[in-house]
Amino acid sequence: MSVLLFAENSQGTFKKAVYEAATYAYDLAQKMGSELTAVSVGQVSDEELKSLGQYGVSKVYTVSSSELDSFVNSAYASAVSAVAQQVGAKAVVMAQTYNGRATAPRVAVKLGAAPVSGAVSLLDPSNNFSAVRMAYSGKGVEEFNTEKDVVVVTVKTNGYKVEENTTDTSVEAFDFSAGDISTVVKEIVKASEGISLTEAEVVVSAGRGMKGPENWGMIEELAGLLGAATASSKPVADMDWRPHHEHVGQTGIQISPNLYIAVGISGAIQHLAGVSSSKNIVVINKDPEAPFFKIADYGIVGDLFDVVPQIIEAVKAVKATA
Ligand SMILES: Cc1cc2nc3c(=O)[nH]c(=O)nc-3n(C[C@H](O)[C@H](O)[C@H](O)COP(=O)(O)OP(=O)(O)OC[C@H]3O[C@@H](n4cnc5c(N)ncnc54)[C@H](O)[C@@H]3O)c2cc1C
Repeated sequence: MSVLLFAENSQGTFKKAVYEAATYAYDLAQKMGSELTAVSVGQVSDEELKSLGQYGVSKVYTVSSSELDSFVNSAYASAVSAVAQQVGAKAVVMAQTYNGRATAPRVAVKLGAAPVSGAVSLLDPSNNFSAVRMAYSGKGVEEFNTEKDVVVVTVKTNGYKVEENTTDTSVEAFDFSAGDISTVVKEIVKASEGISLTEAEVVVSAGRGMKGPENWGMIEELAGLLGAATASSKPVADMDWRPHHEHVGQTGIQISPNLYIAVGISGAIQHLAGVSSSKNIVVINKDPEAPFFKIADYGIVGDLFDVVPQIIEAVKAVKATA
């Protein structure tokens, strides 16, 4: 029995989602009485690889060649599967990022394993790997179990608390040939230089209540003060008030930050599908009947053009005394 973590890197560094998955994988390995091994694909420094030791990884296999510098899901899935087979992994764990979601099903097929996407509780290896996972675009949770003896699990981002479990780590190159790669990444164009929406702890999001793109300055100012990412509802992106990569919901990005501030958004079910698993939700809307208030932790009924500037001033005042 062994647990394998796929430690995905972002331009050579590991992000918080990987450490969440590592903590999850370590806890699972403890339950299974096994060590935690990791696989890293692409160019990552030795120092960064060894940082995984802080999260309980005792051995890291690295797969690196120039054609694997950028993420190519078929080749990455083959590499992860090859390492999983070598170490006899009973559970392969990764973060539920774009790349994790693209890799996990392919790895599951290659290993004949059961896929578990968006786990929010630890699998119970003594009870058919039962666990709770997100379902219906985040609107519900379901209990999962399988009779398969291998699982491939993605851990919901912001769904498992990062904890340090310092362990001695060794790094070893894994001999892997990617063979024919059908997809070649020629250029990576970053949609935004700001805080990544999927990684953000705080998100300030706004909808059609903003009346027009010219009013977004206050949303950006509030986000800047809070160290937050900005997001929007779908119609706002459809009308080109904001870029499409900010659109959250059923047909957009699904996020679960610690704090989601919704400004002038009604809370349609398709919007909630992408944000309802946020830990704390603050809703600002002039309509007390807006559906968003039903799932809000805090609600402010008022005109956003009065409320948001007051919040900005209040945050500035707090920061000035800090
Ligand atoms: C198949 C499908 C998929 C969809 N996917 C998504 C999705 O992924 N994401 C998404 O967001 N939507 C999605 N939608 C659209 C969704 O149904 C809603 O139409 C949309 O979320 C509404 O956006 P909104 O809340 O910004 O606008 P509105 O519904 O127009 O709401 C604006 C809100 O602002 C409030 N408001 C207005 N002025 C002020 C003011 N001055 N101060 C304070 N509050 C004010 C209003 O009271 C209202 O509640 C989808 C729809 C379909 C059919």
